[in-house]
Amino acid sequence: MSAGARWRVSVDRTRCVGSGLCAGAAPGAFRLDGARRSHPVAEETEPSEAVLDAAESCPVEAVAIRLAGTGQPIFPPPD
Ligand code: SF4
Repeated sequence: MSAGARWRVSVDRTRCVGSGLCAGAAPGAFRLDGARRSHPVAEETEPSEAVLDAAESCPVEAVAIRLAGTGQPIFPPPD
């Protein structure tokens, strides 16, 4: 993980089932809306274990993380 690189976090709302696990793992990074669908609080974020934990904890793999500059996938990891 290079210093200064930021992450672009996205949630696939068509997959999200509103479990709230992502917001529990990283409360500052994800918020559930009125329809109980998660969305990132900010389009870009500092790399953090909590955000990675949130992506890993999603039961339907709705959370994706990419490097903001290059779009390189962080999670799910490339094969
Ligand atoms: S963990 Fe996944 S399914 Fe649960 S609220 Fe977050 S994005 Fe939606």
